[in-house]
Amino acid sequence: MTGPDPSPPLPEDERVVIHRLPEEQRSLLELVEGFTREEVAPQADRWEREHTFPRPLFDQLARMDLTGLPFGEDVGGSALPFATYLMVVEELSRGLLALGLGLSVHTLSTWGIDTHATPEQRDRFVPDLVAGRALGAYSLSEPGSGSDAAGMTTIAKRDGEVYRLDGVKAWVTHGGVADRYLVMARTGDAGARGISAFVVDADQPGLTVAPPEQKMGMWASPTAQLVFENAPVPADRLVGDQEGTGFRIAMASLDGGRLGIAACATGLAQAALDAALAYAREREQFGQPIASFQGVSFLLADMATRTEASRTLYQSAADRRDHGYDTTKVAAMAKLFATDATMQTTTDAVQVFGGYGYTTDFPVERYMREAKVLQIVEGTNQIQRMVIGRQLTGARA
Ligand SMILES: Cc1cc2nc3c(=O)[nH]c(=O)nc-3n(C[C@H](O)[C@H](O)[C@H](O)COP(=O)(O)OP(=O)(O)OC[C@H]3O[C@@H](n4cnc5c(N)ncnc54)[C@H](O)[C@@H]3O)c2cc1C
Repeated sequence: MTGPDPSPPLPEDERVVIHRLPEEQRSLLELVEGFTREEVAPQADRWEREHTFPRPLFDQLARMDLTGLPFGEDVGGSALPFATYLMVVEELSRGLLALGLGLSVHTLSTWGIDTHATPEQRDRFVPDLVAGRALGAYSLSEPGSGSDAAGMTTIAKRDGEVYRLDGVKAWVTHGGVADRYLVMARTGDAGARGISAFVVDADQPGLTVAPPEQKMGMWASPTAQLVFENAPVPADRLVGDQEGTGFRIAMASLDGGRLGIAACATGLAQAALDAALAYAREREQFGQPIASFQGVSFLLADMATRTEASRTLYQSAADRRDHGYDTTKVAAMAKLFATDATMQTTTDAVQVFGGYGYTTDFPVERYMREAKVLQIVEGTNQIQRMVIGRQLTGARA
């Protein structure tokens, strides 16, 4: 036979993006896949039922050097491409969304400090986070200002060597379990330019954490309000030692955070697809596996197509980021597409399971509940459309 050698067959796992990674990163992904399969997925239901953040699993990620993948070696990170870090987030989310999203939020808050802090602050705050000795959280939203985050009212008033923080921050992922919060508060006039960012540790006097919100899903990821009452935060915890830069820090961090959410969504969709496919091959009706019915296989085909498209979109956005390009628009696109796709895919997974899908005997009902939150966090999908529209048209409205 003449002509080029035939392409090597793809392994069972057809996630093509993995197969173009350098050997060392492929091994890392295989390690994470093994960890997810053997230690995360089997315990996922238990963590969810117990409404408890899986800190032992996060500590295990730290021991595996997975809590600082995209950060510089000078702060103890692995200096790996953001695209590779996102694959790790995807894989963990396939096992337990609260863990994958937990790593993403941890990275979001660490990134905000790492990129905008003074060199002294960077040395003081970042290595603990990168090593996973400290768990990070990001606190922008408030009870009265979610989408309109610049409307926040939490005040940080300079008083000698401290800023006195007063107000309530809302919806903080890891609220009550984090060791270190990146908190946005108002040091100046109304609007985005009056906002500053602070590094606040969990033992900060004047800070209390409200009981966690009772949520529809993602129970193993605690979400809680932070209540600041005249809390004296040392002035040297003002990120970058400059007032008025907090909103810019918050928004720039979200560009990476939204890619994290897209990766979480892709992992969750993959879990739903895996479960639905296995069930459809096994479950028989009318004397044959339901997978043989076109109506079911078309559902599965659409689920698989959406999931691969989500993966490809977030990976291409991450590639751009890794090459130094602005990613505000593509990160919003990836978050919007992947999370809407995952809502549809997890809903379809319940459909494939029929009545059993509506019970807690199978994980697909959990996946469907979890998917919903991804359309809301880090900017609702209406806000993502607004971001994309503004970038396209240049209009502010
Ligand atoms: C489980 C969970 C975890 C979270 N984790 C964090 C966290 O770690 N840190 C943090 O800071 N925040 C966090 N959030 C908050 C989240 O980012 C906000 O819930 C989100 O930004 C929406 O704000 P909101 O809930 O106040 O809704 P609102 O802003 O009140 O929006 C209500 C509705 O109006 C729509 N809307 C608002 N403005 C517009 C507009 N201009 N055009 C079109 N539609 C619009 C929205 O899309 C939405 O459908 C979390 C939320 C949840 C549920």
